[in-house]
Amino acid sequence: MWQVVGQSRAVSLLQRSLERGSLAHAYLFAGPPHVGKMTLALNLAQALNCEAAEPPCGECASCQKIASAKHADVQIVGLTSNGDSAEAKLRTEIGIDQIRQIQHAASLPPFEGKYKVFIIDGAEQLSIEAANCLLKTLEEPVAGVIFILLTTNERLLPATVVSRCQRLELSPLAAGEVEAALNSGWGIEPQKAKLVARLCHGCLGWAVSAAVDDGRLQQRAERMDRLFDIINGDYEERFTYVAQLVAQFSQSRGLVYDILDSWLDFWRDLLLVKVGCSDAITNVDLEARLVEMARGYSLAQIKAFIRSIQAAGEQLRQNANPRLVLEVLMLSIPEGRGVAKYG
Ligand SMILES: [Zn+2]
Repeated sequence: MWQVVGQSRAVSLLQRSLERGSLAHAYLFAGPPHVGKMTLALNLAQALNCEAAEPPCGECASCQKIASAKHADVQIVGLTSNGDSAEAKLRTEIGIDQIRQIQHAASLPPFEGKYKVFIIDGAEQLSIEAANCLLKTLEEPVAGVIFILLTTNERLLPATVVSRCQRLELSPLAAGEVEAALNSGWGIEPQKAKLVARLCHGCLGWAVSAAVDDGRLQQRAERMDRLFDIINGDYEERFTYVAQLVAQFSQSRGLVYDILDSWLDFWRDLLLVKVGCSDAITNVDLEARLVEMARGYSLAQIKAFIRSIQAAGEQLRQNANPRLVLEVLMLSIPEGRGVAKYG
């Protein structure tokens, strides 16, 4: 049983290659974060080393060891895979020492399984030296050794490395697929499953962690409260918020990008409500508010502000001055007619 949800194209391709004995020596699984790349890589490692008649069974000793990262022939390399040592914590890229170490391991015969599998998580973080070193290994494939590179952004990988791998793209799942999986596989209550399935934008891993750990939903609720405050607030409140975002941006850019994504989701929802497509909104729990707020804006106002949010995100990614970009964004929030004050 392949455990990865959705991704039937990738799974059937791998299944066929397994049955025909025509596996590649190296794979590249590309797709957004939490879409199932690691689950699929571990499933493939299980399928290669499974002891049952129909691999991967998920139940034999080999499959279980791989699932709990205790199999001697399946190794995961990444920024965080080298333990909690001070040196490992300081890493900002996957270094050549890590690749040399797996090259050495790859030269030894399998210890307990049939195949040695090396999973490189976040392959776009390979240093240039490490990527060149890995390239040499990929150019001289060894029987019984398979490399699986996982990446969220293959454009950051040298083309020479990409060209040595069989590329499989993992696409975001439809909200309905995620919702069904949360209901059946994790027993999540329907209302929560529906909300999380929308918020995750097709990335099941995010959905599962948000469904089982209320911290993420709590954080999102606080973020939406703040969004309402800012929309209804005066310029002083909005500029205070900019100062907070700028401070956060210097600590963690990703966090500010996440906040902008939430803003984008919200304003897209307003657009969807405005044009009569409420069924497709992301923030399903805020539908009543969205319907009421949508009345206060024209379609042109909503569209223009969506473009402003997108532009702000692009400018931040191009290293524009964050204070300037965010202040301009705050000044572009449209003035709603009779928008109810909340809070
Ligand atoms: Zn098995």
